[in-house]
Amino acid sequence: MLDRAVVDALFPSDLPEPSFWEEQYPPRGLGADAKVTRLGPSPTGFLHIGGLYVGMIDRDLASHSGGSYIVRVEDTDQAREVEGAVDQFNRAFAYFGIEPDEADSVGSYGPYHQSQREQIYLTYVRELLRSGAAYLCFATKEELADITARQQATKLPTGYYGRWAIWRDKTAEDVQAALDEGRPYVVRFRSPGKAGERTRFVDAIRGELEHEANRNDVVILKASDQSPRLPTYHFAHAVDDHLMRVNLVIRGEEWISSVPTHLQLFDALGFERVEYAHIAPLMKQQGGSRRKLSKRKDPEASVEFFIEAGFPAEAVQYYLRGLVNARLADLPLAEALSSPISLAECGVAGPLVDLVKLEDIAADYVATLSGDEIISRISKWAATYDPALVTVLADSRDEALAALQVERGPEVANPRKDLRKWSDFRTAYGFFFPSLFELVSDRTDERLGGLSPDLISAFAADFADGYADLEDGQEWFGQIRELAGKHGFAPNPKEFKKNPDAYPGSIKEAAQLIRVSLTGSTRSPDLHAVARTLGKDEVLRRVRALVG
Ligand code: GLU
Repeated sequence: MLDRAVVDALFPSDLPEPSFWEEQYPPRGLGADAKVTRLGPSPTGFLHIGGLYVGMIDRDLASHSGGSYIVRVEDTDQAREVEGAVDQFNRAFAYFGIEPDEADSVGSYGPYHQSQREQIYLTYVRELLRSGAAYLCFATKEELADITARQQATKLPTGYYGRWAIWRDKTAEDVQAALDEGRPYVVRFRSPGKAGERTRFVDAIRGELEHEANRNDVVILKASDQSPRLPTYHFAHAVDDHLMRVNLVIRGEEWISSVPTHLQLFDALGFERVEYAHIAPLMKQQGGSRRKLSKRKDPEASVEFFIEAGFPAEAVQYYLRGLVNARLADLPLAEALSSPISLAECGVAGPLVDLVKLEDIAADYVATLSGDEIISRISKWAATYDPALVTVLADSRDEALAALQVERGPEVANPRKDLRKWSDFRTAYGFFFPSLFELVSDRTDERLGGLSPDLISAFAADFADGYADLEDGQEWFGQIRELAGKHGFAPNPKEFKKNPDAYPGSIKEAAQLIRVSLTGSTRSPDLHAVARTLGKDEVLRRVRALVG
């Protein structure tokens, strides 16, 4: 063990003692059941949907128990930091309504960026060095690579343990000599784990778990020639969750195997252990098998995907809550959003993220909103993602309301569910706005179904010449029926099928011609309602574009 003076000389002379931090961050004095939770996103990339999922659980458990929910930016890997990541986290939390109670400048247990907590970590590293629970390791990259290679060759577990831990038992003289040479070092934890030992712990989701005890002397403080001197994840987890007075750590299941190490660290530091809940990862169905959602392969793995597309936050939250606790998926949306999440009801198998299901939920949700509400939500979204649309909606608010009214509203038994996300608006309703609509004038356009250009032109000309903006749907449609007959279309699809060579198509194809001309699409809301909403002049302008 090193002399205290030698240890202390490695640190700034004014580095506070642990009691200083303990007093600065006192126990919170909350109710016995209050949960203090935290999300620890690393700004090495944008927020993953799994991060949002866990954050939502964190927020829910904290708020329903009278606790607090913290977002702590785990930025100890500064080389891999992605610019703008923290802004993206904040935008994502705001969009989905899961803002933390404590983060950045809000809250008394910060700083909430690990890179700003160097002094705190150093205090506790020094403490472990003073007691001999940690030691300096000067092993070079080459030495470590050699150790790993030899372990692999003899099929031993890789790591820095037992006889492989070459600096664990070095004499104070050897350490001093290395220090005198100015060699860089890391600080390692002296694991108390023994071969064959098992660690038992209780997970709030999975119940009692048992794992091989940790024997690895994990690094707790990274290389001494770096500045700032930052800890590894394991050490920061113990120190931060203790001093932030977190009592429930909810995180991905990939950390289960680290629990034995973490418990050793909490014990060595004299910290009370925290409760753990390890969440199963979100999965994706691919062919016949399931795999974890992958940031690299799946666009929907990024929270940005949902924001950019403009999925209503409520629908996404509702959907995700149903994945956490299946029971919540059976409740109506408002109830599901306010009903508490239960860790005991979380599954241990990763739930499937099914975008089709989410879109259905979103469509049902949007169908409950008023036209005004839809326009205001779209405008807000479009301010970032489709600025041209904001102008159109502002300039043509009445048209937008009229368009949204088509086959919608409380008196409609089966309201249209063609808006799942705000970006659908252009496709589903853009044609209602002359400024967004592109006239269909190319008579060979494949949307027109391959009818002969001459026939299209003649049909369109006749339709425009005799067009009446009739209120009655049957009568209005009668105009198409009459012209279809005149231009040789079969009176119904059955007739046409029986004798396809005798007709250019049936009444269906004739109506489709008008549909494509008015909406630019082969599928649309009720044609008569569309024509009425557009008004006679606009109908004529569009149909005449086909005359040529
Ligand atoms: N920074 C860690 C990660 O992004 C957080 C893990 C945890 O929640 O403890 O995986």
